Amino acid sequence: MKILVINAGSSSLKYQLIDMDGEQTVAKGLCERIGIDGRFTHKANGKVFQKDVAMTDHTAAFEQVKEALTTGEGKVIDNLSDVTAIGHRAVMGGSKYDRSVRITDDVLQTIRDYASLAPLHNPPGVKGMEAAAAAFGKDIPQVAVFDTAFHQTMPEVAYLWGLPYEYYEKYGIRRYGFHGTSHRFVSARCCELLGKPDGKGTRIITCHLGNGSSLAAIKDGKVIDTTMGLTPLDGFLMGTRSGMIDPSAVTFLMEKEGLTPAQMDDVMNKKSGMLGISGVSSDDRDIAAAMEQGNRRAQLAWDMRSYQILKYIGGYVAALGGLDAIVFTAGIGENQDALRAELLEKLAYLGVKLDAKANLAHGEEVEITTPDSAVRAFVIPTNEELVIARDTKALI
Ligand code: ADP
Repeated sequence: MKILVINAGSSSLKYQLIDMDGEQTVAKGLCERIGIDGRFTHKANGKVFQKDVAMTDHTAAFEQVKEALTTGEGKVIDNLSDVTAIGHRAVMGGSKYDRSVRITDDVLQTIRDYASLAPLHNPPGVKGMEAAAAAFGKDIPQVAVFDTAFHQTMPEVAYLWGLPYEYYEKYGIRRYGFHGTSHRFVSARCCELLGKPDGKGTRIITCHLGNGSSLAAIKDGKVIDTTMGLTPLDGFLMGTRSGMIDPSAVTFLMEKEGLTPAQMDDVMNKKSGMLGISGVSSDDRDIAAAMEQGNRRAQLAWDMRSYQILKYIGGYVAALGGLDAIVFTAGIGENQDALRAELLEKLAYLGVKLDAKANLAHGEEVEITTPDSAVRAFVIPTNEELVIARDTKALI
């Protein structure tokens, strides 16, 4: 059985064709600059194919995907009917979806309705779903896998903020959390590594550290708190996002700088975080290189992020009533050994003992604490596409 996994952004569309017998990726690629000019990349049969090609919308992007999968040197299937089902990364499922669902007209409408809470993510997600139905025929089973679903187990005390309760009732203003698919995948694997595959009795903190980053506190296999909020802006310093700030700073800056809500959003989402503090880059490799050359503000950005992560971990240990394991994942979590070492060394008060040699591993599953460490730490590469494919298979 082959499942196509789709992750649609406003001007991009990522795809991956996974053969579920053996869970192998047989082809993957990326449509970029949709509606602008268009760049298409397809990887299959050990080769990379790239071309500039106009893609006016997501439907046009799917035409490229179809052609690449079924013709030429990158061909991996004879007919489109070899694709059994399509799984979509859907971002905001609000309070309605605590798990993945088969896409129906009602589901599409609900995702559209949540666009007011996720204006950057839900509309392109819907476009991807509609374009997939147009390309593969409306009878192909499609599944939506929500970033927010795994976090739906959070209790009220963790997901509500101290605003008038009517805003929660009226608009659904609350913490939803994101990266749920990743937190779910790595925490489930962590439970296996702890010898407790059902998660019962485990207290885990998962650290998804990429361009966007979040932590989750997971007790008995269920999320009890997470750092991202109503949007993926809350939490600690990310590549270009500010993370937590005093909300009054927002109204203050809007007034002083004459910024509209959209402009202020842009500042907090695209000009802040590691980029905003360092003035160097949002990319961790550039930050690390600048630090080596003695760049003070790059160092400051790094130190602020570490400090904020450590504060969250401390808070989550209190919320969990102790800690059994910490997991690092995503681009930075899987590769940035210096950050992992720094964080774990500063958690020595919990009895964490770093295995400095094991910690040098990059991008592979490894335990990075010593056998006598009171809390175990792991690097577990995430695989959101595989979770989407597995959920899709299970639901069809
Ligand atoms: P996204 O949120 O876009 O999926 P990723 O999970 O791919 O992000 O993470 C991107 C981040 O990972 C970038 O800051 C990048 O610098 C960092 N990263 C990737 N590879 C390495 C590496 N080998 N060493 C250090 N940082 C890395």
